[in-house]
Amino acid sequence: MNIRVRYAPSPTGKQHIGGVRTALFNYFFARAQQGTFILRIEDTDQERFQEDALQDIYDTFSWLGISWDEGPDKGGSFGPYFQSQRKELYQKYVMELIEKEAAYYCYCTQERLEDLRAEQQKAKKSATGYDRHCRDLTEAQRQEYDEKGISKVVRLKIPLDGETHFYDELLGDITRKNIDINPDPVILKSDGFPTYHLANVVDDHCMEITHILRAQEWIPSVPLHVIMYKAFGWTPPKFCHLPMVMGNDGHKLSKRHGSTSLVDFRKNGYLPGALINYISLLGWSYDDTREFFSVDEFEKLFTLKKLNKAPAVFDYKKLEWFNGQYIRKKTPEELTSLILPYLIKDNVIHDPQTDKEKEILKGIIPLIQERLRLLTDVSDLVRFLFIDVGIPDSRMLIPKRLDKEKTLIVLQSYKEVLSTFIASTDEENETKFREKALELDVKLGDFLAPLRIALTGTNVSPPLFESIRLLGVESTLRRVDQAISLLEKE
Ligand code: GLU
Ligand code: ZN
Repeated sequence: MNIRVRYAPSPTGKQHIGGVRTALFNYFFARAQQGTFILRIEDTDQERFQEDALQDIYDTFSWLGISWDEGPDKGGSFGPYFQSQRKELYQKYVMELIEKEAAYYCYCTQERLEDLRAEQQKAKKSATGYDRHCRDLTEAQRQEYDEKGISKVVRLKIPLDGETHFYDELLGDITRKNIDINPDPVILKSDGFPTYHLANVVDDHCMEITHILRAQEWIPSVPLHVIMYKAFGWTPPKFCHLPMVMGNDGHKLSKRHGSTSLVDFRKNGYLPGALINYISLLGWSYDDTREFFSVDEFEKLFTLKKLNKAPAVFDYKKLEWFNGQYIRKKTPEELTSLILPYLIKDNVIHDPQTDKEKEILKGIIPLIQERLRLLTDVSDLVRFLFIDVGIPDSRMLIPKRLDKEKTLIVLQSYKEVLSTFIASTDEENETKFREKALELDVKLGDFLAPLRIALTGTNVSPPLFESIRLLGVESTLRRVDQAISLLEKE
């Protein structure tokens, strides 16, 4: 069997973690099975359509390096791949359902439906929804409505008794009493556009989709889709509803937990490989221990058997850690080109760089590679090497256990050690600093803190000695002098 799977986003917003996870699993499944991965744009809801959402789909997946075999931009023999361009097809199939008496025209006005809803709410009826008013209209009644030019929709007939079941590859048998299914959902709207249910079923059939991998929130729709497949006389694809993705509070992941849009992660300095790796572990695991997978490996190893039933928890901290691990794996050249746009954007370096900047740039990779978690952090870590950032507050210079006078003595004492700094090894320099600290009766940490602040304006910075080497002794001393005069004025 030629496996055919699809990712079927509605272009109503930005691509988010959940959607991307669905796309990745479909993609990996197709690759692992030598199948075909299709992108289908479910844009039948004209009111919710957002032009930039479509661009966001293209941008997100091209940034991630994931592509489809068939799709709106790729073509393929099952197109068009925009549902909005398949209207005639749905109308044809809806006629088939009407002829088979599996669907019917409903002429109810918006007003009547609203009254009905209000009434049901008042009566607190448990079975709310459409009251099947038009289900048994006679031919003559329908003609009368048509003659009056009353607009109509098409509704699917849900059987009044019995039950509908389907098999889910992950969750097993699922059965639903027909009486519990949303009574007679609209499948074709008055504007001639299909609703999700009709378009989804028709397209999955016509595009010869063999497996539906999608989020669990679609499970309630499956029984009515199955009813439709039966009415058409079609065999449904295999269903596999992916485990939920939760925030760390046990609620479904949403904006309340933090950003969920891929474009935000991209802007915030995440690497595509890290995101793909982490997102693909949401509800899937190879074994109990292995965490790192390249795209190639997922393409080989992915199987539905390794999906987990339990909901997955999206842990922002863990993703950040993953990102750090991916940064560590970059070559110096790769990492340089990754951080460059951030340094330029944050006005840390010029575009193009000056010779001096180029030189410093070469030296910073070993300083940041082990410390960076997000590419966006780079500017704060290295700004001081390119720019004299100054000291925001002179009192910052004074370590807790020292006073102003003692701090000034400490600052003055650097000059001596720094005069031989470049020619000495790190060990020698460390010894010299230690000895000086001992001589002044100050703990080494307290002794070095004012130097760090004088150089960087903050108390977090890359390793101090490497920083001094990159900055040069002359600049270092100049900043120490500035710190001294600042503190003297205090
Ligand atoms: N258009 C639906 C969505 O936005 C597709 C659901 C499905 O895969 O059937 O998720
Ligand atoms: Zn009606």
